[in-house]
Amino acid sequence: MTVAPPRGSAELIRAEQPVLAHNYHPLPVVVARAEGAWVEDVEGRRYLDMLAGYSALNFGHRHPALIDAARHQLDRVTLTSRAFHNDRLAGFAESLAALTGLETVLPMNTGAEAVESAVKVARKWAYEVKGVPESQATIVVAAGNFHGRTTTLVSFSTDADARDGYGPYTPGFRVVPYDDLPALTAAVDDTTAAVLIEPIQGEAGVIIPRDGYLAGVRELTARTGCLFIADEIQSGLGRTGTTLAVDHEGVRPDLLLLGKALGGGIVPVSAVVGTRDVLGVLRPGQHGSTFGGNPLAAAVGTAVVELLRTGEYQRRAAELGTVLDEGLTALHGHGVLAHRARGLWAGVDVDPAIGTGREIGERLLGEGVLVKDTHGSTLRVAPPLTVTREELERALAALRTVLAAG
Ligand code: PLP
Repeated sequence: MTVAPPRGSAELIRAEQPVLAHNYHPLPVVVARAEGAWVEDVEGRRYLDMLAGYSALNFGHRHPALIDAARHQLDRVTLTSRAFHNDRLAGFAESLAALTGLETVLPMNTGAEAVESAVKVARKWAYEVKGVPESQATIVVAAGNFHGRTTTLVSFSTDADARDGYGPYTPGFRVVPYDDLPALTAAVDDTTAAVLIEPIQGEAGVIIPRDGYLAGVRELTARTGCLFIADEIQSGLGRTGTTLAVDHEGVRPDLLLLGKALGGGIVPVSAVVGTRDVLGVLRPGQHGSTFGGNPLAAAVGTAVVELLRTGEYQRRAAELGTVLDEGLTALHGHGVLAHRARGLWAGVDVDPAIGTGREIGERLLGEGVLVKDTHGSTLRVAPPLTVTREELERALAALRTVLAAG
């Protein structure tokens, strides 16, 4: 048997070109293994992961408790489809409902699927419960949103790259400025099924609304009789120093969308979590997913909830978030124009004279730190919540070095 010689980074990146469609623009690093906050490339170089899979790796790479849960489940049963019950699903749903203070769980796989499911539930609720005339339901969303890549979800995106060229678009959405309660109030009427927002806008550059906005959305939706859907696929599960970003204002949405970290960095797991009366509009046969709620996903998701129940990760995010915030504040005037941070999550606006976000990301790669740009000269920093203070300070020092080199 001939064994193919190991291929280096450059060769592997070249090999992707003719066979991979260009949906992403990856940094030129080829990851071969990872542990905690660190990844290693095929040449054995190590990098601090300050992106954490866009928050899918909140517990770091290969967290032992999550790997154990997955391994244990791999030895028992991995997929049943929802044609049958499986012995892991009830426990997962119970623990997730208890963690979030809500009642009912609809398990799905990707984030976009969870948002799509919520759109369907909200429309059905509007027709069956609120009494909106058939096909008239509207959903109010915010400019700058990112909810996923399906045709319906890009239909109400305001990002030309995400939206252009994919029409005809799904009707029934009204876009208002983010963090603008008067505009939101003006857009809600008798046809409104729901207001769908991210409590903090991630892809837009970690945009944190003013204090009172989320409470205002809750009050408005309750008063006008429509649903509040909070997309916490990126902001939820410990990232901001609390279990949910809506916890900062002590509000509960009618439908909460979770994903990314719910799969522990191992498998795609998402969920719509909500009140029984709202999710109760779905009856058998009216919605589904072959993989949603599979035993492997449920086992990993249950282990994720177990980790969050300790409160340790939320605490770490809050405490180390202060280190991140102060470290970035110290870089104002040294290449950083502004930043926004909550917990272990920050959007950093770099002086465009120094470079685009992409260029800064490439230079940080040279310093052994992985971050990704969002738009223009904005970097998104989202380390695993398991990161240590020393690792965080190392990443901040690398950023200082890169910015100083201009
Ligand atoms: N919603 C939000 C807030 C997101 O940040 C994302 C992904 O970045 C999604 C939905 C879509 O998730 P997925 O890529 O798993 O479909």
